[in-house]
Amino acid sequence: MIERFNRYWKDEGIVIRSTNFGERDRLVTLFTRGRGKTKALAKGARKIGNRFGASLDIFNYSQFMFYSGAGMPILMQGLIKFSYRDLAFSLKKWLEGNYLLYLLDRCWQWEKPEERLLERVLYFWEVILKKGEEAYPSFLQFKLDLAFYLGITPHLGSCVVCNKTIEGEAYWSNPEGGIICPSCAREVRDKVVISQDLRAILGYLSSRGNSSSLKLSPSQFENLDKILSDYLTYEVGDKVGSWHDFQSLYQGVAFSS
Ligand SMILES: [Zn+2]
Repeated sequence: MIERFNRYWKDEGIVIRSTNFGERDRLVTLFTRGRGKTKALAKGARKIGNRFGASLDIFNYSQFMFYSGAGMPILMQGLIKFSYRDLAFSLKKWLEGNYLLYLLDRCWQWEKPEERLLERVLYFWEVILKKGEEAYPSFLQFKLDLAFYLGITPHLGSCVVCNKTIEGEAYWSNPEGGIICPSCAREVRDKVVISQDLRAILGYLSSRGNSSSLKLSPSQFENLDKILSDYLTYEVGDKVGSWHDFQSLYQGVAFSS
């Protein structure tokens, strides 16, 4: 008897993406509290007047009911609890909100729950809704969050090789996993220069400084965003595009800053 009831379960979370599946259904990738990144089939979701309403759209936080049959879990129902749908009212915010979903999708493994990461997405959606342009530091913060929850926080405070405190010039190395001093850098081939101001910004963000109060120049942001994207790419083993790369995917769509 118990087993029969256990075939239905409730969970809460967000939709990362969904695609049409056959004539009537949608295949949905979710990030839920209980399961993390997970897939489910929403039966009948393409029919007019289906029982999902807008709960399968991105930028909602919903309660979902699942049924586990022989194959992939079936999504039975979705009920929106909070909506961030105003992100869809401007192309810029839509892209920014989507970028967080893209990063989550790219970096996170299947069926590994991490509620704190879900909370971070919701938090940064709020930031984007309020801030617009200044939301960019949030992307850096979110990448550091991802690295933290993946267990690959980069070493920032001193040289990762010799542990000496670094003043002035330094390098970033993906294989070494963080900042290296000039003398250790001679032995390391895969590295990029990272200036003192960029290291200070990373230090501030990694200590969970409030990213939305941070003012970055466009080049500071682009440099750091590339470093962190390349670092995640190296660690995850799958291309993690920078914000710049991500926008290029939508070339042809008018984009004004
Ligand atoms: Zn060193």
